Amino acid sequence: MTLQFAIRDDDCNAFTEVAELERAYARLPADVPVSFAVVPYHASLECPAVPDDRWDEAERRPLEANEDLIEYLQDGLEDGSCAVALHGYSHERFDGRPEFVAGTDLPSRIERGREHLEKTLEHEVDVFVPPNNSLSRRGIQAVKDAGMRLCYYPTPVNRPKTPEVLHVFLRDLWFKYRNKTAGPVSFLRDADRFWRRGDHSVFMPVRPMLYELQGSTEITCVSLTRHNPVDPVKRHLDVAAAHDGKFCVAVHYHAFRDDAFSDRFYELIDYARSNYDVEFVGIEELFE
Ligand SMILES: [Zn+2]
Repeated sequence: MTLQFAIRDDDCNAFTEVAELERAYARLPADVPVSFAVVPYHASLECPAVPDDRWDEAERRPLEANEDLIEYLQDGLEDGSCAVALHGYSHERFDGRPEFVAGTDLPSRIERGREHLEKTLEHEVDVFVPPNNSLSRRGIQAVKDAGMRLCYYPTPVNRPKTPEVLHVFLRDLWFKYRNKTAGPVSFLRDADRFWRRGDHSVFMPVRPMLYELQGSTEITCVSLTRHNPVDPVKRHLDVAAAHDGKFCVAVHYHAFRDDAFSDRFYELIDYARSNYDVEFVGIEELFE
């Protein structure tokens, strides 16, 4: 068996320039696909995914407004160099909280966003990537009700405390304990920091497998941002490889504006290719 490895790139939207995507991934070997988590109606927010001269507009820009990007994604979907997931609806915040935590009418946001993405790209989309990696109980339920597969952490937070949810959580906890790199006391300290305080800089190895939860399949991703080092991400990869597992790294195309980030990303890709029998896949293939 080989390690399956997917690259998830978040925030692509109608404001995104194709040239920026091409620049970001220019050094990737031709057989390595990128899976874009696309925002179908991105709001004119003050954020790196929107040009700063558009921040003040009261506009949500539909993906169909960017023909170059549609062509780029369609070509990629056709030749297998890219895959597409749904990344919220507008990526807005509500009272400072993420869209699928505090937003209203979440089932309709999924339905309208998915429909626009599928119609515009002429491609079925059934993987959901939550904006800001955050979901409330309502957010999880909306994704489940839509029958979409999900990139998310298997904690019982914001989930019904059913035997199924607790079983998956305990298996995840056991996996983390079995694959810890320090003693039991530091494991408990790490677990406390990770879950209770939400400190995701702690190294808690993710279970590199699919899990069935609340009626659909989920998988965990590992983030590589401008602000976190690459070595812990490599350790997650090592654990995934040791289990012939599945690995998904989550990045943002706008982080590649930072050369140091770009170097860390390509260091990870080189590390995977030179140490493991790795098969690079689109995100939906991870679910197979
Ligand atoms: Zn995002």
